[in-house]
Amino acid sequence: MYPQGFVCKRCGHCCLNLDGYATTCSEEDFGRWVATGRADILAWVSTVELPGGARIREIWIDPERFDHALRCPWLRRLTGENRYECRIEDVKPGVCRDYPYTAAHALRTGCRGFNHHPPARYTGLILSQSEPGGLPGFFWSMLADAATTPV
Ligand code: SF4
Ligand code: SF4
Repeated sequence: MYPQGFVCKRCGHCCLNLDGYATTCSEEDFGRWVATGRADILAWVSTVELPGGARIREIWIDPERFDHALRCPWLRRLTGENRYECRIEDVKPGVCRDYPYTAAHALRTGCRGFNHHPPARYTGLILSQSEPGGLPGFFWSMLADAATTPV
């Protein structure tokens, strides 16, 4: 379930900047794609075997370059619009279904799904001007910088 107040704007920011987000899927996701014969999706998943039998399922690995895709292969721009959709919406991995985890997570990673959040780069400026008796402006600048740094 999405956090209260969240409405996806379909801006595509999260899917166009995969470096900033988790790049693995769960065993549950992987097993679901196997069970439903989604070879198209599995072609973009790479399994890393770890000592002790554990595994990491990395997404989205370009099957031709053997490296992380620069943007998600399932992202499609809507014709004539500056909005996007997920081509595997019904079966997308949990990490996508659960994003953003919280309003703070959205702010930190540049998600535009919360109307009450101004763009992260302006947050420090607004707070420092609206709270003259509060923390020094440089602190809020640091906060804003941190907010725009991918996790
Ligand atoms: S960044 Fe946020 S608002 Fe934009 S598409 Fe992703 S979830 Fe939706
Ligand atoms: S699978 Fe869908 S939701 Fe997840 S990153 Fe790709 S386009 Fe975005």
